[in-house]
Amino acid sequence: MSKKETKYIFVVGGVISGVGKGVTVSSLGLILKNRGLKVTAIKIDPYINVDAGTMNPTEHGEVFVLSDGDETDQDMGNYERFLDLDLTRLNYMTTGRVYKTVIEKERNLEYGGKCVEVVPHIPFEVIRRIKKAGEAAKANVVIIEIGGTIGEYQNILFLEAARMMKIENPENVVFAMVSYLPTPGKIGEMKTKPTQHAVRTLNASGIQPDMLIARGEVSLDKKRKEKLSLFCNMPTDRVVSAPDVENIYDIPLNFEKEKLSDKLCKILGIVCKKPNVPSWNAWKKFARHAHNGKKAVKIAMIGKYFETGDFILSDSYLSVIEAIKYSSYAQNKKPVLTWLNSADFEKSPAKLRELKKYDGIVIPGGFGSRGVEGKLNVVKFARENKIPYFGLCYGMQMMVIEYARNVLGLKDANTREVNPSSKNIVIDVMESQKEHLKNNLYGGSMRLGAYKAILRDGTIAKNSYQKKEITERHRHRYEVNPSFIGDLEAKGLVFSGRSPDGHLMEIAELPKSKHPFFLGTQFHPEFLAHPLAPHPLFTAFIKACVGRRK
Ligand code: GLN
Repeated sequence: MSKKETKYIFVVGGVISGVGKGVTVSSLGLILKNRGLKVTAIKIDPYINVDAGTMNPTEHGEVFVLSDGDETDQDMGNYERFLDLDLTRLNYMTTGRVYKTVIEKERNLEYGGKCVEVVPHIPFEVIRRIKKAGEAAKANVVIIEIGGTIGEYQNILFLEAARMMKIENPENVVFAMVSYLPTPGKIGEMKTKPTQHAVRTLNASGIQPDMLIARGEVSLDKKRKEKLSLFCNMPTDRVVSAPDVENIYDIPLNFEKEKLSDKLCKILGIVCKKPNVPSWNAWKKFARHAHNGKKAVKIAMIGKYFETGDFILSDSYLSVIEAIKYSSYAQNKKPVLTWLNSADFEKSPAKLRELKKYDGIVIPGGFGSRGVEGKLNVVKFARENKIPYFGLCYGMQMMVIEYARNVLGLKDANTREVNPSSKNIVIDVMESQKEHLKNNLYGGSMRLGAYKAILRDGTIAKNSYQKKEITERHRHRYEVNPSFIGDLEAKGLVFSGRSPDGHLMEIAELPKSKHPFFLGTQFHPEFLAHPLAPHPLFTAFIKACVGRRK
């Protein structure tokens, strides 16, 4: 780099939501990283919630947990996966978080007796956070995603912060607008007008985008590039196509077909290195696998969040899906996921028998009692029929309850979360959680973030990780009740991963001699699965699924 100052790229969205700003940020980051720049990314969510932890995943998609325990938006997962980063709470902000800090500072007399106002004090706090995240990461480039769509009321103060940063240092701040170009069916032609309006609306906030990323069914043609250039005030080479893709991992590759990293470096005024060929080839190879996986591996995903109105919200389990993909691609397999509603397994044995057609079953994380009996029936069926089973957090707790009920004969075994009056609470509230629950302190109060665990020799867990000590991310309030551990182990369930002090059960499994893969984790391994580094437990699970075919 020629200059030492940190550069900032703001990514905003035009016309409609869901145009892939998060994946754009991740892809821009990747192409710049590949040019030798140190990149970090920030997500701004304009809602009042202090974090995403108090939101139902059907409202806002998956809650992505960082190593430091911050409960964030699923885009943070994309940033970490594309950029192979370990982000922190500095990389995530919401309106609630920003206001909370400003109000706390005001209460502490930190504004020296001034009248504290929405403008400039809220944008100042936003700017302080952006800069701090950049400094902490020692980043050359900070990419900031401003959530929401241009023209909304909610994100105005964040745009105001961005505008102020640009005035302070025009050379170091760049704006990219990701916009949508519809091709109405009856008209059959890609339309640029909504994007023109979106740019004008952004102009009304005092911001001129430096670059347009044009999402649409297909790439832009010359005519449309010229039109956008003329009406959105930028040279044609700053208008970049982002056609729909089958696989999001192609997006950085498509960007580089338009030499986007060169263009960005030019706008940012930085001289960067030549592309790193080996790491680019590794990404290409990975993306190619995503297309070429020949044989399908069929996975049943059991949960309750899937149906919201007419939409199936697989977004609620984004990281799980990606983790399954990486481990499948690495074995040249194409994962085919089927979403099954746990409630459907509550009464019908015929429905359970249908599970035989899958190569494996996953029960991901969950909360509350709805659908739990159905999940328990699924676990029993998977155990008895030797169908590979992977339980993630709640899915591991289900495993323990099912084992207690059907192998130990404790018929009313349950988790306190579902039935506090059961005589056999095999999954109980963690000691540290009791006070929080008593005081209704739900936000940010679970066991959150990265914790170490020690693995037992000769287990599937140990053989998969190939190491004794692991660190994984958690998000739960309940745990295996220590008073049942002896009985569960005596009857064959193995706790192959425990907290370093031995008190908390982190992984449960059946030995390979009894079942090809029956394993659950109290943590969420999916948060640490990366494209070029598939997660060892997901890989072991997928291998077992593939083995079932043979
Ligand atoms: N509801 C369970 C708990 O709080 C599991 C949480 C989860 O699956 N993330 O312990």
